[in-house]
Parts: sequence; C-alpha cells; structure tokens
Amino acid sequence: CGICGAVGLRHATPIIFEGLRRLEYRGYDSAGIATLVDGQVERRRAAGKLDNLADLLAQDPLPGTTGIGHTRWATHGAPTTGNAHPHGTSRVAIVHNGIIENFETLRRELEGAGQVFETETDSETIAQLVDYHLQQGLTPKEAALRTLRRLEGAYAVAMIFAGHEGLMIGACHNAPLAVGFGDEEMFLGSDSLALAPLTRRIAYMENGDCVILTPQRADFMTFDGTPVERQVQVTALTA
Ligand code: GLU
Repeated sequence: CGICGAVGLRHATPIIFEGLRRLEYRGYDSAGIATLVDGQVERRRAAGKLDNLADLLAQDPLPGTTGIGHTRWATHGAPTTGNAHPHGTSRVAIVHNGIIENFETLRRELEGAGQVFETETDSETIAQLVDYHLQQGLTPKEAALRTLRRLEGAYAVAMIFAGHEGLMIGACHNAPLAVGFGDEEMFLGSDSLALAPLTRRIAYMENGDCVILTPQRADFMTFDGTPVERQVQVTALTA
C-alpha cells in the first residue's frame, strides 16, 4: 500500500527502506525492494513485517543506486513472499499500488504471446506488458507509455530497467504519487511523508501523469507522451 523509489548517487536500499517505514501507517502484509546491481535487476521480498525484510537485507544486502520499494496490501493473490512486489523479469521491475481491472484480459493476451507469469497478482501484468514491449525493441520510456495506455483501474506504479542505471519511471491514475527533488537525486513516494527526510521540494503527480526520472531531471508527460509542467512545492515540514 506504499511506494518509494530513489535514483541518484547514494545506495538506494536504505533510503527506500526508511521511506517504507514511514508508509507503514497505511497498513501492509508484505514488502520488497528491487535495485540495479551491475545493471541487473535484483530484489529482496518478504511476507509480513518490514523487520522480516530488514533481516533478509542484513543477510543478503542489496546495493545499487537505482531502486524501488513497496509495501503491499494484497487484493489479488495471497499475501505470500512470492506474490510480494517488486514484480518483474530480467528486463524490468515494477511496484504497484491499486488494482488493474483488466488484468485477466491482458494476462491471457500476454500468455498467448509467450510471456511466462510467476505470480497470481494483477500487478505482474504491468511488468509482463513492459517486458513484452522491451523485447519488441522499444525504449523503456516507449514501453512504459505503451503499457500505461492499456491499463484500466486505479494505480500508482514505479519501474526500473535492466541496463539503465539512473532511470526510474513513475505513473499514476486515480492513486497518489509524489516526486521528490534532491541534489543530483530524485525520489518517488506515495506521499510527502515518505519523502520528508529526503527533500522538502515535492511535485504531486496528477491523474494520468507519467514521469521520467534521472538524478538530474524529472520530465512529466501524459500517457501519450505530451509534456506537461508540474509545480514544485516547498513543504513546510521537515523530518
Ligand atoms: N493489487 C496489487 C496486489 O494485490 C497491489 C496491492 C497494493 O496496493 O498494495 O498485489
């Protein structure tokens, strides 16, 4: 039920984990983080409390400066480690809050096209659809936008891509997502509380916004790729 992401120069995992702690109040049944390690997607996931994820990360640390994290409140698929986010393939990892209403149709279509699903979640459809488009030769941005145009329902989503250090894509439709502006680093969070220790400069995404984030930039656009401007607000509260 919460999303946090970071792209910059620092290790992403501690930043994301702290963000997930600050989103705990929303409730959740499992949690996970994915980062890029030498350009490859790696993830750690655990059912239950964030302490379980912390134990896992202590045993098996997750380096990398580009990453996304999630606390899940299961709607489709049991609250198991296997169904915990991030979902993905060797090419992409995604976290998702909300529900993809047309996931059954999309899943049938993707399975017909040879995509192999690993979970029972509606969310994995997003990862598989992005993966499918990447295999067709689309760039991460094109693959994300083409995917977003197919999704029905309420969602906030964050994505990272193998071989693309320093790139994170966010999007939302009927669910909140905020962009935090740092110094040579950018963040995504479900709300400003998650971002409070990181930055006071925040832009709230609007319905139907996609954002392409690199450590230096945030480019907002509609799902058809038309650029839009989003105001950066300076929040009064610090951590
Ligand atoms: N519908 C998704 C799932 O069940 C996301 C739930 C959430 O918002 O945490 O995995």
